[in-house]
Amino acid sequence: MTLIAQVIVDVPSRGTDRPFDYIVPESMQGWLEVGSRVGVPFGPRTLQGFVIGLSGTSETPAAKLKALQELLDLVPPLSEELVELSEWMSAKYACHRITALQSMLPAALKGKAERYIRVAERESWVGEDSLFDATASLLTDEEEQIISHIQKQQEVRMELLSRRFGEQAHIIKSLLQRGILLESRSIRDKVQKKTVRTVSLHLPEDEIRTIIEEFPAKAKRQQEVLTYIADTGGDVPLKEIMTVLGVTASTVKALADKGYIAIMDMEVYRDPYQDRNFTPTTPFTLTDEQQQVYNSIINRINKREKGEYLIHGITGSGKTEVYLQCIQRVIEQDRQAIMLVPEIALTPQMVERFKGRFGDRVAVMHSRLSSGERYDEWRKIREGKSQVAIGARSAIFAPFSNLGLIIMDEEHETSYKQEESPKYHARDVAIHRAHQHNAVVILGSATPSLESYYAARSQANDEFMPTLLEIHGRALGSELPAVEIIDMREELKEGNRSMFSRPLHQAIEDRLEKKQQTVLLLNRRGHSTFVMCRTCGYVAECPNCDISLTYHQRSNSLRCHYCGHAEPAPQICPECGSEHIRYFGTGTQRVEEELAKLFPGIRVVRMDVDTTTQKGSHEKLLNQFRDKKADLLLGTQMVAKGLDFPDVTLVGVIAADSALHLPDFRAAEKTFQLLTQVAGRAGRHHLPGEVIVQTYNPEHYSVIHASHHDYHSFVREELKHRQILGYPPYCRLALITFSHEKLALLVRIAENYTQMIKDQASKLDWLGSLERFSNEALDVLGPVASPIPRLKNRYRFQCMIKWRGDMDVAKLAEHVAEQLQDSVRDKELLISIDVDPQVLM
Ligand code: ADP
Ligand code: ZN
Ligand code: ZN
Repeated sequence: MTLIAQVIVDVPSRGTDRPFDYIVPESMQGWLEVGSRVGVPFGPRTLQGFVIGLSGTSETPAAKLKALQELLDLVPPLSEELVELSEWMSAKYACHRITALQSMLPAALKGKAERYIRVAERESWVGEDSLFDATASLLTDEEEQIISHIQKQQEVRMELLSRRFGEQAHIIKSLLQRGILLESRSIRDKVQKKTVRTVSLHLPEDEIRTIIEEFPAKAKRQQEVLTYIADTGGDVPLKEIMTVLGVTASTVKALADKGYIAIMDMEVYRDPYQDRNFTPTTPFTLTDEQQQVYNSIINRINKREKGEYLIHGITGSGKTEVYLQCIQRVIEQDRQAIMLVPEIALTPQMVERFKGRFGDRVAVMHSRLSSGERYDEWRKIREGKSQVAIGARSAIFAPFSNLGLIIMDEEHETSYKQEESPKYHARDVAIHRAHQHNAVVILGSATPSLESYYAARSQANDEFMPTLLEIHGRALGSELPAVEIIDMREELKEGNRSMFSRPLHQAIEDRLEKKQQTVLLLNRRGHSTFVMCRTCGYVAECPNCDISLTYHQRSNSLRCHYCGHAEPAPQICPECGSEHIRYFGTGTQRVEEELAKLFPGIRVVRMDVDTTTQKGSHEKLLNQFRDKKADLLLGTQMVAKGLDFPDVTLVGVIAADSALHLPDFRAAEKTFQLLTQVAGRAGRHHLPGEVIVQTYNPEHYSVIHASHHDYHSFVREELKHRQILGYPPYCRLALITFSHEKLALLVRIAENYTQMIKDQASKLDWLGSLERFSNEALDVLGPVASPIPRLKNRYRFQCMIKWRGDMDVAKLAEHVAEQLQDSVRDKELLISIDVDPQVLM
């Protein structure tokens, strides 16, 4: 009986997007599982791969079949469930299987083949035993030195060896040629487990006590050390002994030499929150509304049944408290929970609430952690040390084995969809995983996405029929703030050219007097700070992309946010030589400058991508604001989410509508969501709040309904538009983007593709117009130039497939893309498929 492993190798390409068979060597058979990570020979290379299947065969395997080379982890990094999930993902989102697998693992596990050098057995140096002595004596001193260096460590990474003996490369080469040194390849992880040198007792404690008493008087220091270790009960970090007792390492080592203690490297977890104390919190008594929601959900959880819920609860309605109590119940059942939040909502406040309630059982996963920290948080989950994971999108892959609950807070957020391959939506993955575990999914939002809301209302989608639960009042009983809409066109007519309307100006002044706080939001979507010549109208554009460059004050440079191109800001216009060249647009920096001018002495905390790049800066800025060291918090979308400060009584929105005219069918929905979210930051506690929204579109329904906190009216109106225009939730979309350096070729390809889809679809009897409102239809729009028509020197075209009904459009789109790529045979041609796109650029 031979055991064969099916392995997906770590090369994301079409040719390698299938399992390869390998023989499992006997020594690995007890260890290998589906989900194991292995090193395999692949042509001349050694690659990392994942075992996705195991099968036994009694036939003699084909001679060309190779064996697995190494097993990389004792505990497989993936469970069978996650391996299955990767198959589902690659079908649903038309991506390579390895890309799906990689997205589930921390970057630290992206191992790379490394070369290792060891010394050959002496007998084999020149083949014949008799020659051994002669050969040995022929070694030069330098050669001896290198050999003994390697021998001491058994095996040395080539990289380290060449660093240590950089000058002697030719000697090492010659030793390799003569067979004295041997080379092997092996997979090595990017990040290693962290270890701490630890001291423990090597003898039973009573024996140690006797030794301490009879210690020779002249070795007083050693006696102290041994006493310290015995008193602590063992496993003391060496560093601690050295600092506490003021002894050197050699004193401790002397005790080890005597056999009293052992010094070892022990694995530890890097804990990003180790220096923090979290105040333990106890559950609140739920309000009636919270209690009703809680009861419906907990009923299902108690029965360990799967189910989906959509909580629509206004900002401050106490959704998070409901989540916490549901998680509590799941933990009591010895099951585990994942809490997803959008990256920018994963604020220190949120972490505090979770750590305060569940302590060390919480693993936190977000992009600000170092890759070592992220790896260790992940290991805590995989090794069963954590029961709750809180994190952004990719935390949906937390390797729990017995999930009871998955929560997605702010479920409407675009960031739950990954923009690069695998282009998955965390909501879909959550539902799929929950089904496998019989777990409950809770989606929560003050402004649920139209997709989720419609699914709950219509109950028409077999895969996803959430039960709608509503919370209308705030947990603390406070009222939603009054919202005033300011028409900026009127302001301009009255001669106010400032970015602050008169009412907003007055309101800020008023808060300064009352020593209350203000949050000011600048909607940056659709805004950029571009450089324009006032004389000739020249706008600085990226040489590689059809996009205007963004001005960065700190470095006085112009940058492209897409390709990274940077150049110094011009002093004179490169077109006409005029000096009247300056930057335009309302960046947060400009607002900050304006504030300082209008309100002398105002203390502003500015939060945007520029001020929050450093680790911990986000937290520092928020603490500064919370501690009332600032009067005003100014920021982009970041300030709209999840913050809860009692003294904020005014929220101002500088340009509510800057995103309304983006070429995106969700523009109105996004605007409504943002306005509702930010308005929810005001008056959350005892002081009443006020919101002032400045806009050039005061009559737009998303602005009006947001000002009345009226989600239902907004949805009614928006759904009407979507139905007429044929957009989700009334159909599904797949966006196909083509890119190539040659425009003419690209246009032809895009046209071919569109035609091929139409041909295939009519063969399958799918093709038809969506407008007939039939249950099943497929339509292709385009091709047209993408909203960003050129990026990184490549032209871009796109077409959109719209469909309704149960059709595997991902497969169709992928199949046609492959056919086309086979006929064109041009490696430069890229075709990207985005199923259920969130961003249409
Ligand atoms: P949401 O997540 O819906 O925005 P939160 O859970 O953050 O709402 O609750 C808003 C505020 O109300 C928080 O300060 C929270 O501590 C408080 N809160 C929530 N539930 C209760 C309750 N049952 N009793 C008292 N205070 C509560
Ligand atoms: Zn000019
Ligand atoms: Zn660019």
